[in-house]
Amino acid sequence: MKKFALAGNPNCGKTTLFNSLTGSTAHVGNWPGVTVDKREGVYKKTPEHVAIVDLPGIYSLSPYTPEEVIARNFILDEKPDCVINIVDATNLERNLYLTTQVMEIDVPVVVALNMMDAVEKNGDAIDAKELEKRLGVPVVKISALKGVGLDELMQRAYDFSSQERKGATVLKDSALAHLIGDVKIALDGQDVANPLFHAVKLVEQDSIEVEMHKDTVKMVEEFKATFSDDVFGDDFEALVADARYKYISKNFAPVLKRREEDKFVSTKSDKADKVLTHKIWGIPIFLVILFAIFHLTFSEDFLYLGAIFHLPSLEDLGLLDADGEFLNFGVKLLACVYDGAVFSPGVIINKLWNEILVGELFGWLGGLVEGSGMEAWAVGLINNGIFEGLAAVLSFLPQILVLFLFFSILEDSGYMARIAFILDRMFRKFGLSGRSFMPMIMGFGCSIPAMINTRTLADEKERTATVRVIPFFSCGAKLPILTAVAGAIVVWTGAGNADLITFSMYLLGIVSAILAVLLMRNTTLRGDTPPFIMELPAYHAPQFKNLMIHLWDKAKHFVKKAFTIILASTIIIWLFSHFSFAWKFLEDEEIDQSILAQISMFLQPLFTPLGFGSQLGANGWVFVVAAIAGLIAKENVIATFSTLAACLIAGGAISGAGLEVEAEDGIDAVRAMIDATGIGVPGLIAFIAFNMTTIPCFAAVATAKAELGTKKAFNNTLLFWVAASYVIASAVYTIGAFPWTIALWVVAVAAVVVCIVLRNKNLAKKGA
Ligand code: GDP
Ligand code: MG
Repeated sequence: MKKFALAGNPNCGKTTLFNSLTGSTAHVGNWPGVTVDKREGVYKKTPEHVAIVDLPGIYSLSPYTPEEVIARNFILDEKPDCVINIVDATNLERNLYLTTQVMEIDVPVVVALNMMDAVEKNGDAIDAKELEKRLGVPVVKISALKGVGLDELMQRAYDFSSQERKGATVLKDSALAHLIGDVKIALDGQDVANPLFHAVKLVEQDSIEVEMHKDTVKMVEEFKATFSDDVFGDDFEALVADARYKYISKNFAPVLKRREEDKFVSTKSDKADKVLTHKIWGIPIFLVILFAIFHLTFSEDFLYLGAIFHLPSLEDLGLLDADGEFLNFGVKLLACVYDGAVFSPGVIINKLWNEILVGELFGWLGGLVEGSGMEAWAVGLINNGIFEGLAAVLSFLPQILVLFLFFSILEDSGYMARIAFILDRMFRKFGLSGRSFMPMIMGFGCSIPAMINTRTLADEKERTATVRVIPFFSCGAKLPILTAVAGAIVVWTGAGNADLITFSMYLLGIVSAILAVLLMRNTTLRGDTPPFIMELPAYHAPQFKNLMIHLWDKAKHFVKKAFTIILASTIIIWLFSHFSFAWKFLEDEEIDQSILAQISMFLQPLFTPLGFGSQLGANGWVFVVAAIAGLIAKENVIATFSTLAACLIAGGAISGAGLEVEAEDGIDAVRAMIDATGIGVPGLIAFIAFNMTTIPCFAAVATAKAELGTKKAFNNTLLFWVAASYVIASAVYTIGAFPWTIALWVVAVAAVVVCIVLRNKNLAKKGA
């Protein structure tokens, strides 16, 4: 099978093209640096199938970043049959810089002028025929997004791939041409593959090349001794770069015809950026947008209409019968949209899903099991163990998707990249560059790709610090914990808004991350923050297809996890809560004698400072079980509550009155836990904080282990998670339960700050 590689600058549309060609659903994001590793797929429309490799985005073939090394090694060592060089046509000159380097390799190259839709929309035009003539390789206009020109691109690449092509360089007219020619002849003599490419790189004094061709380096050195440029002196790397750019602007750039009136007018993007990336207003605007998203996803009082206009509840309207049940199905539907207030879209979708679909389905399945004449323990295992846990996890799926839809819109529109840019100013003070913001934002989705994405951070210490705080950016799996606990607090206390609680918890995570980074960068992970250079991608309307791909991926992942790891965990939890150490089977009313309860009771005192330990009394062990089950996967936390709540209700430990069909609904599961233990709001909030900042899950631990450079860094990371969650959750709990302790916390933090400042001074003195 032939193999084609996709190479191009970051954010030029490689992954979009890859997805269209191969039918994959790889992550496309409107910011540079999303793809950090290569990825393969198959294109099937040519006579012979073609393997397509998506390479990470690169600006050059010099080994400055890990991405550049991956891409360069792939093209040189794996010898693809053709390199499709994707060029962002809205940024022609800068993108062609890479093209001039790829062309120096002895490989068929086809240039794909991508984003032609955007070029044409701007009223500009590109003469592809002329560019083709000047470059000497095929040039095809495409729009990866709209799927235009892809068949022609592949056809021409396919035809061209069977030809031999020798590298060509635009440096042939420059002062360096002679030297490059001599070095090439020398390399030819040594039978080096791609002599032209290596010759140019040697002249550039590229570190990898100098290492590889020690003998030939001498010749370059001799020449250099006799050569000096007025502007660049003997900086040959700059000389070569300058020669490339000069050639591009003289010979290639003229193929672009700009619409006359456009030349000096600032674009819409520029205008939007004046506001959205404003020095002072940028961050407040971001927070408002973020809050709006949480409001739309979680609020049970959309736009606060209910509170403002004192709208009547369904009961006030006489739509409930004497038992407080809905009069008919119509009212039940209405209750998913309105009850004393209009619900936000996220809540409506969630209620419809749960009341009409999941609740009914699992209620019906549970009835079937009960009526089947199975042994009581089997009924318990299936209904309380499996169904309750699964239903509780699945009940949050729509709301998670709604939240991610909003995040994807922010990402795809190009706004998130601006946030990285605004935050860079602030981050720098804490010892991070804006670049590390991107993996952090990805952490809102899932810590695992986020940790992998930290590969874009060149500095090892910055990278380690970022990996450690990524879990603080609450991922999709933690959302059920937040939603269920916040929902339960709202129902139980009748005060507050779920959107406000979830939003504050997300902020708590972000603030904790910043403080933790500040601490680490001043102690164990001290170091300089590399400069952050990023071009801002163009704003564009989010792409429906792209959004759907993101959501579909998210949903698939979530459901797959529910039916594998979560399912297995709930079964294990049910079993261990129904057997004693003497292997005696226990009825529901005896689960406090179970292996699980006994171990958890032993560990309970550890959690007392966090507000969910010994103070919770006899049933308090359920919180310990949930917290520990959450170390495997965070969805387990609410699933565990549901399973145990069902058992506690069945065993008569709590009444379960007023709770939906036992405790299928995650919110009701938490309410059952409140009934069972008498835990207060501070303890509940501390419980969320603990789960948000502790060891995230098995999969993330494995990823951290693979991504972090050393064993020591990994061990310290585990230690960091345990310590951070312990400190943060105890702070939340003690301040909530005993407000005067805030003074103690302030003193403790001040003491740490003073120690750091003193130590920094000391180090500075030693350095001087
Ligand atoms: P990569 O970083 O090179 O892999 O680029 P992506 O495929 O992730 O795309 C970056 C951004 O450019 C995304 O927001 C895409 O939707 C957008 N994009 C990709 N191809 C086109 C295109 O042909 N036209 C327009 N207007 N936008 C595109
Ligand atoms: Mg990509």
